[in-house]
Amino acid sequence: MQAASPRLPFAVKPTAHPVPEADRLKAFEALGFGTLFSDHMAVIRWSADKGWHSAEITARAPFPIDPAASVLHYAQEIFEGMKAYRTADGRAVLFRPQENARRFNESARRMAMPELPEEDFLAAVEGLVKIDARWIPQGEGSSLYLRPFMFASETFLGVRPSKEYIFCVIASPVGPYFKGGAKPVKIWVSETYTRAAAGGTGAAKCGGNYAASLVAQAEAAAHGCDQVVFLDAAEHRWVEELGGMNVFFVLEDGSIVTPPLSGTILPGITRKSLISLAADEGLTVREEPYSFDRWQADAASGRLKEAFACGTAAVVAGIGAVKFSGGEFRIGDGETGPVTTRLREALVGIQRGQTNDRNGWLHTLSGV
Ligand SMILES: *Cc1c(COP(=O)(O)O)cnc(C)c1O
Repeated sequence: MQAASPRLPFAVKPTAHPVPEADRLKAFEALGFGTLFSDHMAVIRWSADKGWHSAEITARAPFPIDPAASVLHYAQEIFEGMKAYRTADGRAVLFRPQENARRFNESARRMAMPELPEEDFLAAVEGLVKIDARWIPQGEGSSLYLRPFMFASETFLGVRPSKEYIFCVIASPVGPYFKGGAKPVKIWVSETYTRAAAGGTGAAKCGGNYAASLVAQAEAAAHGCDQVVFLDAAEHRWVEELGGMNVFFVLEDGSIVTPPLSGTILPGITRKSLISLAADEGLTVREEPYSFDRWQADAASGRLKEAFACGTAAVVAGIGAVKFSGGEFRIGDGETGPVTTRLREALVGIQRGQTNDRNGWLHTLSGV
């Protein structure tokens, strides 16, 4: 057994200038994604000599950053994405937050950054949600998006892991991720760019992966697509994932295929949850490689009934059509299919406290 490490004490300093309630209510009338922020933030600092220290919940404010801060040069930065929901019976809940805490440390290890004890990660997230509970929106498809992140803050231009880091959590009330709502998305298959190679950082949730994906996402947009899907770097043959979402294929026999976690794919918590929910629904899920050739052939023959992408931000999004340099094809009738809808509803039902949380995935915050 591991000895319980003493938890970091958090200094709680409520802001002297909270957003007036009338302004918050006004802003809640038209929620976008990632444009509106709550009053506070959680911050914990790390240095090589002191370890983790100075934990606080404080007014949301800019960080003074030295121009030589190492994150600005060598991109030591990782993050998480999670949501707080207000359930129908009025509870404030998080969905599988320990999974985010654990994955955050896996990312930290890959990026030569210090690990944050899981209980301190969770205390930071919970402390922020509690002080900013009025920022959890209630409407369907709305939630308080939480962004824990860590970056190298040492003033130093040499190339080595930083000796100082800042961990922070901010909160953003959000509506549905895709403006089209439940409308299926159109996907661009990038043949020019790859996202991750074996031995690289594909399985780490680091900002650098996103930086490298933006030009491919721009290519997708230029072709009238919503999102880009990447193929593997070695053979340019196997479907891996979208820029920020995992992908699933629903076949005619009712079975479901999703690419295996090979080290180049981000291990999504939504992915993991849907695999488990699909099994509960009596569906067979196979984690096996799925090639772009097979994708085209299965779509043409009708063997492929549905495809969908998933992640915390967008939850589950049906894929209606796929475009690539050689043409374009539709999946099923181009609409969000019944299996996709069923899985989405099963997941959302749990997150919203509407269906039995058999697996104990919801974490209820006390006193909120
Ligand atoms: C965050 C992320 C996902 C989805 O992970 P969830 O835990 O389901 O939100 C998928 N792919 C990439 C590249 C990601 O960064």
